[in-house]
Amino acid sequence: MSMFNTDIVEKLEAIPTPFYYYDLRILNQTLNAIQQEVQGLPYLVHYAIKANTNTKVLEQIHSAGFGVDCVSGNEINCALNHGFKANQIAFAGVGKSDSEIKFGLEKGIFTFNIESIPELLVVNDLAKSMGKIAPIAIRFNPNINAKTHHYITTGLEENKFGINFWELDSLFEFLRKLDNVNLLGLHFHIGSQITDMSVFKSLCNRVNELQKLFKEKSFAIQHINVGGGLGVNYHEPDMDAIPDFKTFFSVFKQFLDLQQGQELHFELGRSIVAQCASLMSRVLYVKEGIKTNFVILDAGMTELIRPALYQSYHKVENISKQKQESNLKYDVVGPICESSDCFGKAILMPHTERNDLIAIRSTGAYGEVMASSYNLRDKVKAIYHDEI
Ligand SMILES: *Cc1c(COP(=O)(O)O)cnc(C)c1O
Repeated sequence: MSMFNTDIVEKLEAIPTPFYYYDLRILNQTLNAIQQEVQGLPYLVHYAIKANTNTKVLEQIHSAGFGVDCVSGNEINCALNHGFKANQIAFAGVGKSDSEIKFGLEKGIFTFNIESIPELLVVNDLAKSMGKIAPIAIRFNPNINAKTHHYITTGLEENKFGINFWELDSLFEFLRKLDNVNLLGLHFHIGSQITDMSVFKSLCNRVNELQKLFKEKSFAIQHINVGGGLGVNYHEPDMDAIPDFKTFFSVFKQFLDLQQGQELHFELGRSIVAQCASLMSRVLYVKEGIKTNFVILDAGMTELIRPALYQSYHKVENISKQKQESNLKYDVVGPICESSDCFGKAILMPHTERNDLIAIRSTGAYGEVMASSYNLRDKVKAIYHDEI
């Protein structure tokens, strides 16, 4: 069943395009599904705010009681402005600037997820200069292949993220020497759009190994943070609107050895917000080519860059012609002056015409937040199901 019934299509057709259409009922169901899996367990979910910073989305996630994972000072500020408490904020990122670190220290955030030894030294120095002790977790690079697109793989030694296992001895030495950092946790995040659950099982094994090493050196660890990365079904967004959180969390329940009193933290981004939005666009022209016909939309890589950036797949639907058979192939492209501005090639659609309304599905994560003004495009709007 499509989320676009005749009544909704009629309303959407009256709205100027392009815009992101949010159905926050899906977000609500997603948040409930997560809560159901973690309740009663020492599990805490930080929403990775970089996936979507839309105010209504944040309000709903905040009211569900989630924490936040930020990767910049402005994201910390945004989270605070939306009511998240400083002590619910984790701050990751390989290149935190001095002013961002100071801002986090001033606000008293929950933890700095430290990604390199040089960063550890800078955080210690800045904390000292402010008369503070920085709460930290160490982000490790577990050298695990997330089996996803190479641009969203983050947990291999060749990637820029985290501290490598071979740096452990020098890390232990610094942790003992530095007076203005307080080690709270161990942090991992191996990539995004991960659909092979054995990857998370491998992660658990690496975490267990590393925990032992810290224990041997008598470092107490209060929390383990296994990051985010759970994938969503971009091919069948209606069938699979809510990701399989049960299987995801059960991998950690089964394979991660939590110590007495320890908390397990997660940083889910995409799996929370991807399915609650579609990018809505109108057909400007249908242009006949030699090998293929082009459908030229009024939305492009400036509104949704994922296909151009990571060759990612999004389901494209002609919702003005839902009752007709999808028996023609089109290349669906945007208006931007770049050949990579293409949403998909040889997409099966019904006979498509100027002014048909097209939905590009599953665009709630890394969609609106990655929009740009290249070609001096207007800022893309957001419309909500309860407003139309
Ligand atoms: C981006 C990011 C996440 C969220 O990843 P998803 O694939 O969207 O779940 C979590 N943690 C860190 C450190 C990140 O950079």
